[in-house]
Amino acid sequence: YRAKQLGRNTLQHHDGDSSGLGMPRGEQEELHQAITCDQLFLEYQPQVDVATGRITGVEALVRWNHPAKGRVPPVNFIPLAEETGLIVPLGLWVLNEACRQARSWQDMGLAPVTVAVNVSAKQFADPDFASHVAEALERNRLQSRWLELEVTESVVMQNAERALAMMEQLRAIGVRLSIDDFGSGYSSLAALKTFPFDRLKMDRSLVEALPGDKTAVAIASAVISLAQTLKLSVLAEGVETDAQMDFLRHAHCEEAQGYHFSKPVSPEELSRMLQTRLP
Ligand code: C2E
Ligand code: MG
Ligand code: MG
Ligand code: MG
Repeated sequence: YRAKQLGRNTLQHHDGDSSGLGMPRGEQEELHQAITCDQLFLEYQPQVDVATGRITGVEALVRWNHPAKGRVPPVNFIPLAEETGLIVPLGLWVLNEACRQARSWQDMGLAPVTVAVNVSAKQFADPDFASHVAEALERNRLQSRWLELEVTESVVMQNAERALAMMEQLRAIGVRLSIDDFGSGYSSLAALKTFPFDRLKMDRSLVEALPGDKTAVAIASAVISLAQTLKLSVLAEGVETDAQMDFLRHAHCEEAQGYHFSKPVSPEELSRMLQTRLP
């Protein structure tokens, strides 16, 4: 799979569009190079079954190994990628790399886990997105049930009709769809009833104040039971403490992700974790 070709086409495509945004030209060129010159890599953060402690899935998180600055976190380049349109080839690289890695773990004989990939608004608005997903699965001989796509509310609310049509195409392929960062910023319950999500990821900001803060407890409990009522599985993000885990266990939250279990790690480290996981 050639990210180089993709990047080249897309730069031509978006070159004109982005010149008016006032983005420093150099940074844009650098990000383009990151995509075409193999400077991006993925780390994987385990997602854990709250009741058993087993790893059930991983979230793929992109990083940039900048030739001069070293390791750059996604908050420092995803916004630029979104503004310039480079998120489309970047996202395609992430999608393919995550599927390739999932295939490679399965080939190692490890018990399969779901791999979740973050999808941005521009990718989701691309009419070819569903076929890119199908191609990535096929190319890597990965069953669709092992791929999960994470989108935030703002992605689906931007153009509800178009988003719904895209979600239906993706569901037909058989991938899982999750709503990311639920409860961050403004949240509308409409998104949950309108769109066919499989899973709700409760934002770290709601988990942070657990279990000491009474309001946080009330909100987190409400979100968990809302998910159950709507038949969505529910995962708590940003879990860092034993006390938060105790709360989540009692509130019947199904899964958790956070530094309490592991920070995002290399694929090698993750395969070690999968090897030693309890049966
Ligand atoms: P996200 O999708 O909500 O990912 C979770 C973020 O929370 C990750 O930050 C992760 O490292 C961090 N995190 C996990 N557990 C904890 C915890 O216990 N405590 C704290 N304080 N943080 C925790 P990261 O990797 O820096 O990514 C930030 C955001 O960048 C992601 O938020 C996502 O919105 C975006 N992003 C990352 N990779 C991609 C990608 O491949 N494509 C797109 N479109 N966006 C991406
Ligand atoms: Mg995410
Ligand atoms: Mg999130
Ligand atoms: Mg987030």
